Amino acid sequence: MSKPEKLIESGIRLDGRRPDELRPIKIEIGVLNRADGSCYFEFGGNKVIAAVYGPREVHPRHQQKSNSAVVRYRYNMASFSVEDRKRPGPDRRSIEVSKVSREALEPVIFQEYFPRSAIDIFVEVLQADAGTRTAGINAASIALADAGIPMKSLISACAVGKIDDTLVLDLNKDEDNYGQADMPIAMTPDGRITLIQMDGNLKRDEFKEALEMAKTGCMAIHEMQKAALMDKYSAQIEGENNE
Ligand code: ADP
Repeated sequence: MSKPEKLIESGIRLDGRRPDELRPIKIEIGVLNRADGSCYFEFGGNKVIAAVYGPREVHPRHQQKSNSAVVRYRYNMASFSVEDRKRPGPDRRSIEVSKVSREALEPVIFQEYFPRSAIDIFVEVLQADAGTRTAGINAASIALADAGIPMKSLISACAVGKIDDTLVLDLNKDEDNYGQADMPIAMTPDGRITLIQMDGNLKRDEFKEALEMAKTGCMAIHEMQKAALMDKYSAQIEGENNE
């Protein structure tokens, strides 16, 4: 799509959302039989799958840590996930996204319980529409819980930014491409930030307001993550009781 004349008109964005509205979210837990934990996460036009393996043996062994687990995170975009075919394999962007996503989750994982072991997180982006790193972190956080990895809390993530001088929550691809700022954020339910990046410019007051918007967005996502986990496990326990 070429640059639209306006990205927001009378307070309504091109996809019909209000400035502080998230895109629709769909969560499915335990979608992969061979992973210890897994989650399919839809976030508007983003479709991602997270798979968690571990705690398990570390290969190569020199990556082992004697007093804690190593957390490894691989973010990968399928070549068919974007409009023009993406060259398969890792690139600078995917290495960066993997690093910041791992760092967004590590603070809540009790790594010290599992010395000499690895916790491996794989995120595959099947369809991308801006916000894939936040979708991946949301999915990975649920997949970690599904794998039974002890965590202090879940992590929730969404982006906030600016289009046509208006602050908006959860930018889609056109807003990301033609907007003035894009700021992905991840946090714990009590508002401790574990990821913050910024592309573009925000004034000091805008930054403060944007942070509040992101916080409200993350809290809403946290409720959905929690509800999805509770749904899965209460259904499972009910099933076991009826056997
Ligand atoms: P995020 O997906 O976390 O918002 P970026 O801001 O880097 O990360 O990317 C924004 C969007 O740009 C992606 O969600 C995707 O739709 C698109 N994109 C990223 N990399 C590529 C690529 N190599 N080819 C085509 N589109 C891409």
